[in-house]
Amino acid sequence: MRRRQFLGYCAASGLSSALCGQSIGGEPQESTGNPATAGLLIADPHAHPYPINATRSYDPAKPLLEIMAQINMALSAFAAVGDLAYHSRRFGTPFMDTRDQLLPVKRLEEKGQIRLALRAADLPVIATAGKPLVGLMAIEGGDALEGRLENLDTFHAYGVRMLTLVHDRDNELGYNQRSGNDGRLSRFGIDVVEKMNKTGMLVDVAHAKTQTLQSIAEVSAMPLIDSHTSPFLPGEEGTGPRRLRTWQEMEIVAGTGGVICTWPLAYSGKIGHRDSLKDWAEEIVRMKTRLGIEHCGLGTDGGGGLPHFVQGWKSIASLPDLIGEMRNAGLTQDDIAAFVGGNVLRLLGKILA
Ligand SMILES: [Zn+2]
Repeated sequence: MRRRQFLGYCAASGLSSALCGQSIGGEPQESTGNPATAGLLIADPHAHPYPINATRSYDPAKPLLEIMAQINMALSAFAAVGDLAYHSRRFGTPFMDTRDQLLPVKRLEEKGQIRLALRAADLPVIATAGKPLVGLMAIEGGDALEGRLENLDTFHAYGVRMLTLVHDRDNELGYNQRSGNDGRLSRFGIDVVEKMNKTGMLVDVAHAKTQTLQSIAEVSAMPLIDSHTSPFLPGEEGTGPRRLRTWQEMEIVAGTGGVICTWPLAYSGKIGHRDSLKDWAEEIVRMKTRLGIEHCGLGTDGGGGLPHFVQGWKSIASLPDLIGEMRNAGLTQDDIAAFVGGNVLRLLGKILA
């Protein structure tokens, strides 16, 4: 998107000029105390921060509220896992289990430790130290709906504003990237996307297999997000972890006006590797060149199941080091502001308006 279009986008989505100025003009903002993240609005649209999934053993990589406060994070997703009931011995149906996972998020809100993003006016617009984190209640896996549209209404009423349509199994909506099959969204999947567009929920295509992804883009009237992924290594498209994205797939998401968010996953390919913050930063440069920086974002999957992190990444607290590598790779302050949160907040502003 070009600058003028982007400004129009800001105006249309009701976002303040502070946020939009932040994303493209790098206006000075209130200091955060950490020089690398000062003035940046940091937003992570995919994480499972403790105490969500609290029945799992404590994992120090989970982005705790204190760690998020250290870097003055503005917004983080709190994603329940919608198909967890299928993968581990849990009590109750996927719907009940997902609702139970979201309970602690509600408690955090009740105690004033977070504020929930329910409408555009709830989104952070200025990086201010000491403000409570804005929590984006999310569900990873439409399995939680159990094939019933009214369950989407129930979750929306509860505060959920983002749904990853498929997760680690083919479900009532569509196919996932680890599946041996692929296909378009089901009738139910189409109904879910249309309802999410209408009620103001962010449609996440992470984990969706190619044809499912393509049909989500055709059905959705609103921009999409891929909340946690990364591109295949140069010259190795189609080989490597199945969770990676081809350029064609990322162009589909960008074509909706959406954002593709990249994560700290480390892996080696046949020729290349992605195992350092430098590799990650150079990948962001390639994405900027090919897709436009306005379509690139951060999505850590913090607290999720990434098997290996790139060297130098421990948790969201390592973000200042990634920012340093982004600078070394030639990215500007405006690019950095857009990547670490500006683009995701712009998208949410439009969806929640
Ligand atoms: Zn995931």
